[in-house]
Amino acid sequence: MTQKAPFRARAEIDLAALRANVRALRARAPRAAVMAVVKSDAYGHGMVPCAKAALDAGAAWLGTATPEEALALRAAGIRSRVLCWLWTPGGPWREAIEADLDVSVSDMWALREATDAARDAGRRARVQLKADTGLGRGGCQPADWAALVAAARAAEEAGTVRVTGLWSHFACADEPGHPSIAAQLAVFRDLVAYAEKEGIEPEVRHIANSPATLTLPESHFDLVRTGIAVYGISPSPELGSSADFGLRPVMTLKAAVALVKHVPAGHGVSYGHHYVTDRETTLGLVPVGYADGIPRHASGRGPVLVGGAWRRVAGRVAMDQFVVDLGPDGAEEVGAGAEAVLFGPGDRGEPSAEDWAEAADTIAYEIVTRIGTRVPRVYI
Ligand code: PLP
Repeated sequence: MTQKAPFRARAEIDLAALRANVRALRARAPRAAVMAVVKSDAYGHGMVPCAKAALDAGAAWLGTATPEEALALRAAGIRSRVLCWLWTPGGPWREAIEADLDVSVSDMWALREATDAARDAGRRARVQLKADTGLGRGGCQPADWAALVAAARAAEEAGTVRVTGLWSHFACADEPGHPSIAAQLAVFRDLVAYAEKEGIEPEVRHIANSPATLTLPESHFDLVRTGIAVYGISPSPELGSSADFGLRPVMTLKAAVALVKHVPAGHGVSYGHHYVTDRETTLGLVPVGYADGIPRHASGRGPVLVGGAWRRVAGRVAMDQFVVDLGPDGAEEVGAGAEAVLFGPGDRGEPSAEDWAEAADTIAYEIVTRIGTRVPRVYI
């Protein structure tokens, strides 16, 4: 019997799996604290419920990109340590300081804004200095590190700042043996040693993301910043599957088949007619599309479990819907209202987010993060 789905679409979020993943990560990094990275609505899983579940399971820190995300955690009553790292000039420094957030600083302008806000607030800003050890994205260049450290020390002396952390981010931790990994670690150690020699006493030094947490114990330092692994997804198929790391995917994306109909051979399907039926067959309409985060790039390829078998997206993914070819006898197995599982942990033979990533020529991070707000998250 095909399972019925009494909803258009929904993302089921298995918080017990998330908690188990956090515990698995704590076991992988026994000497470090775990930060659950919950930016971008917890990679599409829902920020506040996931943050609370991660803290329940022993995560000591939360991490967000924007200060607004971190402030939303505080507004939800979450009191744990929170680091937010993606600042722009004129950002909500004072609100962040008053909310006891740890703020990342990579540049003099940011340190100035943090110290000004701290003076206004009448309390120290908890600042974490970020170094670019080789990612070539955010972070202070090594050549500018001495000046930033000196300014941060001066602000500590002046009572406006407390430097709580020194940190950086990897470029290629998901490619074991990549020469940049050892190079970044060496630069990080040097920059940390320099800052400490200058009198900085950080509570935490950290560089590891999920792939480094899973495969590079020498990168764990005091804290590991884990995102994708918390959500039960392997950082890269080349590193291993989620099961290889003892992780369980947290999100299952389901939709109800909206329409089942017979069509003759030679019938063009969806915009552009990129799929044409080669025999009399049955089509099923799946009512989710690129507005829901289903990648249009997976047109013709994305896999869906319907009626006990994997079907591929037939033709183009449209804004709100796509079609699958159920085969000549499809209507016997699948009727309107049948459950279509796009991805999940695989218990019932459904595809994974990694399968969708492969079909869309992207990474599983993007698949889950892009699931749109029109798809309700249901916590199970
Ligand atoms: N740290 C920073 C600065 C990040 O931007 C991210 C995510 O991209 C992470 C940690 C978590 O990375 P991952 O999801 O690979 O664990």
